[in-house]
Amino acid sequence: MTTLFISDLHLEEARPDITDAFLRFLDERAKTAERLYILGDFFEAWIGDDEYTPLQNQVADALKAVRAGGTELFLMHGNRDFLIGEDFCARVGATLLDDPTVVDLYGTDTLLMHGDSLCTADVEYQKFRASMRNREWQQAFLKRPLAERQLVARQIREISMARNKGKEEFIMDVTADEVVKVMEAHGVQRLIHGHTHRPAVHELQANGRPATRIVLGDWAENIWWLEVAAGQEPQLRSEPLAG
Ligand code: MN
Repeated sequence: MTTLFISDLHLEEARPDITDAFLRFLDERAKTAERLYILGDFFEAWIGDDEYTPLQNQVADALKAVRAGGTELFLMHGNRDFLIGEDFCARVGATLLDDPTVVDLYGTDTLLMHGDSLCTADVEYQKFRASMRNREWQQAFLKRPLAERQLVARQIREISMARNKGKEEFIMDVTADEVVKVMEAHGVQRLIHGHTHRPAVHELQANGRPATRIVLGDWAENIWWLEVAAGQEPQLRSEPLAG
């Protein structure tokens, strides 16, 4: 039995190749897995569960089929798709996870996060994140007409892309001290997250002992996933997108 982790697919109409790769991944790998965790930025944009685009419907149907086959599904919000709601999760049979969440992975407590909250050197982004995660703002936004939400989402994306352009590399990555702090606060020796698009396995010290931080990769050029099985070291794997 294996548990799979993916993140940062950034599914969108402009990248049908990523959608195809995801559908293949479900068919070839997720179908036979015990659980599939999607740790945020699954979709490039999400403005409410009431949108129902052809892409969303296609992905929802595929997830539903995998769930029906017995694979448990878990979704966590990213900074792009933080408005995915309980309706979408119910529709596909997924459980929406808080960020952060600790899960028992075959006997090892493992902290799961999207990863954006670890980038504390980016003060401007953290302020923006706090305002976007405000419940009242979200509820008011979700009540606006779809066309209006689409426009606002596009504007927000343009602003954030313009802001990120001038930022230095280290600012866009996680802050090492924050990683240790969060791992110690949750008493774990293993963290899995995405967001930074810098797939790697990092060894560090937390709680006075060796610890591991596993970073999932984005799907822009290659597909990335983490495979965890009982009694084995987690395997960070990748394949060309085109398969
Ligand atoms: Mn992200």
